[in-house]
Amino acid sequence: MDFTPRRILDNALDAIAAEHGLKCNLLGKLEFVSAGGSVKDRIAKAMVLAAEKEGKLIPGKSVVIEPTSGNTGIGLAMACAIKVNTSCSDKGYSVVITMPKKMSLEKEALLRALGAQVIRTPDEEPWDSPRSHIGVACKLQREIEHGIILDQYRNINNPLAHEYTTGPEIIASVVSTPSTRTRPSSMKVDVFVAGAGTGGTVTGVSRALKKTHNADCIVVGIDPIGSILALPNNLNIDGEGKPYVVEGIGYDFIPDVLSRDVPDVNHWVKTSDEDAFKAVQALMRKEGLLVGGSSGSALSGALAWFETEQGRKVAGTEGLNVVVLLPDGIRNYMSKEWFLKNAFQTEHSDLATRISGI
Ligand code: PMP
Repeated sequence: MDFTPRRILDNALDAIAAEHGLKCNLLGKLEFVSAGGSVKDRIAKAMVLAAEKEGKLIPGKSVVIEPTSGNTGIGLAMACAIKVNTSCSDKGYSVVITMPKKMSLEKEALLRALGAQVIRTPDEEPWDSPRSHIGVACKLQREIEHGIILDQYRNINNPLAHEYTTGPEIIASVVSTPSTRTRPSSMKVDVFVAGAGTGGTVTGVSRALKKTHNADCIVVGIDPIGSILALPNNLNIDGEGKPYVVEGIGYDFIPDVLSRDVPDVNHWVKTSDEDAFKAVQALMRKEGLLVGGSSGSALSGALAWFETEQGRKVAGTEGLNVVVLLPDGIRNYMSKEWFLKNAFQTEHSDLATRISGI
C-alpha cells in the first residue's frame, strides 16, 4: 500500500493571496488526499515498518497501543490491518487508541470501523496524569500482554517520515508544478508554514528543505493559544492552559521529536480558534478546499506572519514561494459545532428560499 499523496495543489491559493494583497505565491500542501485522510499516515507506516524490522511486532499477537488526537491512530489502524511489508504474510496486530474526549466523533467512528478499540480520556488531564491519553496508554501497555506503544512523541521515524516523504514532495512540486512554472517563481520553497502537534511534520520537513534544497528557507511553526510549544516562551504565557477547540496541534509538554529552535524552526506564531475557523471557511469557499481545523490554524498563522517585518518583505516580493501545510480534511469534523455554524451561515440562504418558493 502506498500512503504517499502525489501532489501539491496545482493552483496556488490565489484568491486568498489576492484578498490579502500578497505578491508572493501562496501554495497549499494538501494532505487530506492521503489514504487515511491526513498527514499522519506517513508516520504510521514508517513506525510500523521500523518496529517490524527491529522484530518488535509479532503477527497475531502484538497489540499496538497509541495515544493520539486521532489521525495517527487512523494511520496505524490501517497499517496494522494490511500488509505494509509485503514480505510479512500475516499481520493481524490489534490496535488500541487512547484519545482525549474533545477529538471528533468522526475520527472515533473511523477507528472503530477499521477494527481499533478506542478509549476516550478527559481533556483537562495534564499529559503526565495517569488519566491522560498518554497515562492511560502507558497503563494499558503495562497490563496487556504483547502491548507496544510505537510512541509518535519520541519515535525518530515520525520526523524522518516527513524528512523522507513530505519534504521531498513539496520540493518536487514547487520546482515542477504548472502553478510555479507559469508565474514568476524563485523555483524554491522560500517559506514553509506548519502547525505543530508532535512536531514531526514541521521538524522533518524543515530538515529536508534546509539540508537538501534551500538552507535559507524560513520555517514558521504554528501553535494554538493555550499550548506551550512556541518560542520564545513568553508567547505562551497569556493563554497557557486555556482550552481550545482545534484538534491535532498544541500540547502542554514538549514532545521529544519537536525541534523548536533555529535551525529547524525560525519563528513561531500563536493562533486562535476564531481565526482558524475563519480561515477554514475561506479555504472552502474561496479555494474549494475541504480542509480541517488545523489547516485553518496554519493559514491564519501564515497570514499573521505576513504582518511581521520579515513577513511583509516576503509578502511584497513577486515570485517567492510560501508553502502552507494543510494536514487533514473537513470530513473529520462535520459533526463539530464550529463546522455546522460555518456551514449554515450561508449568505445565499435567503435567495435559495425565494427561488424555490418555500
Ligand atoms: N493537524 C492535525 C489535524 C493533526 O492530526 C496533527 C497531528 N497531531 C497535526 C496537525 C500536527 O502534526 P504533527 O504531529 O506532525 O506536528
